[in-house]
Amino acid sequence: MSDSKPPIIIVAGGLATRMRPITEEIPKCLVDINGKPLIQHQIEYFRAHGFTDIIFCVAHLADKVKDYFKDGTDFGVRVRYVQETKELMGTAGSVKLCEGFIDDENFMVYYGDNLTNMDFDQFIKFHKDHHAMGTVCMRPHKDGYKSSSIITLDEKNVIKIFLEKPSLEDIEKYQYVQKYINSGIYMFNKKIFDFIPQNQKYDFAKEVFPELLKINSAFYGYVTTEYFREIGRIEKYELFLKEVAGKDEIFMPNKAVFLDRDGVINYNIHGLIRPEQLQLIEGSAEAIKKLNDAKYAVIVVTNQPELSKGFLTFKDIDEIHTKMYTIVESEGGHIDALYMCPHHPHRGFPGEISELKIDCNCRKPKPGLILRAAQENNIDLSQSWMIGDSPSDLLAAQSAGVRAILVGSGSGSGRKEEIDFFHKVRDYVVKNDLLDAVKYILKEKQ
Ligand SMILES: [Mg+2]
Ligand SMILES: [Zn+2]
Repeated sequence: MSDSKPPIIIVAGGLATRMRPITEEIPKCLVDINGKPLIQHQIEYFRAHGFTDIIFCVAHLADKVKDYFKDGTDFGVRVRYVQETKELMGTAGSVKLCEGFIDDENFMVYYGDNLTNMDFDQFIKFHKDHHAMGTVCMRPHKDGYKSSSIITLDEKNVIKIFLEKPSLEDIEKYQYVQKYINSGIYMFNKKIFDFIPQNQKYDFAKEVFPELLKINSAFYGYVTTEYFREIGRIEKYELFLKEVAGKDEIFMPNKAVFLDRDGVINYNIHGLIRPEQLQLIEGSAEAIKKLNDAKYAVIVVTNQPELSKGFLTFKDIDEIHTKMYTIVESEGGHIDALYMCPHHPHRGFPGEISELKIDCNCRKPKPGLILRAAQENNIDLSQSWMIGDSPSDLLAAQSAGVRAILVGSGSGSGRKEEIDFFHKVRDYVVKNDLLDAVKYILKEKQ
């Protein structure tokens, strides 16, 4: 297999009514961001990562795009165009026009109002490794209640439900289900063209994807919490301009704050096995929202050895976590991901699950959970933090190479003198609770 990069079809033909009046003069992909068109920032990122074959689907104000990028030479890429002539063809209908340009086995579709510095190589590798017909790039349960799409996956990342613009009933129905949001970035095998009729208005989300689900095609979700912005509405555009004001580099670094669960987010009670028992520590949800706003990925890393002892099931723990997500979301924040170690090395508990009774690599103080989360989410550990209430959190952080904060809100094993006496932790900061720790990271007054 060659390491050549697939072509990228940029869908940029929409009328962009939600961006008027700006888009009466220029198409949405050309709106200015710090002196350059939006899509130029993205194309420069593509080129820096070896993607040089760009095909624009243009319609509304097509000549503005053509006049700007021409054949791409000035931008170090090859640019070709397909133009919808009669009417707006929809996302899939316009991509169908590119069929004759695609020689590769696979290609990418990219909606022209997106900005991301995600690791596209990992996305493509996932698509190829799964021999997928289609792979949708998606983000976890942000904006819980009022999301623009609802996608659910099985444990192998096969897409089970795909609802674009879900109804209120659907939003209600899937309220407590782990769900994802479409990012408008797809990888396809070129056989996908067989699913799109010629010269007809046709949409990926409304028509192609339901068909793939119906026939059980290899249709996957690639989940990432990497930096992503969609500049689809005038308010979002204005917010984004504020966010990047004065910055040369408009993309956000992929940094995270890793949080221990018990004693950090929620009160550490012995034998927490039912959602009713879960109570968030005051300020936790507010702290998580602050991290969201400051563009840190919020990733929970937690040891749950009770699973191996058979004290609670994976279903029980899912319900506990769904309650935690729901409380955080009701205060406007979100948890991007959760990584859990269900193992424990010591045998001898009645009802224990023997395959979980192992000496694993993920149980803190080992760094396995943090390292896996970083690898799967393209996190730069040198810009990241771990907040915990016990020595094992600090040691895991140290081994993973992230800075650590010890909070005093936990069970009492978190006293500094004790830790310094018994454990070899090099360097860490002590704060009262999660909110104080987050304010410290964000350099806010505590
Ligand atoms: Mg803890
Ligand atoms: Zn483990």
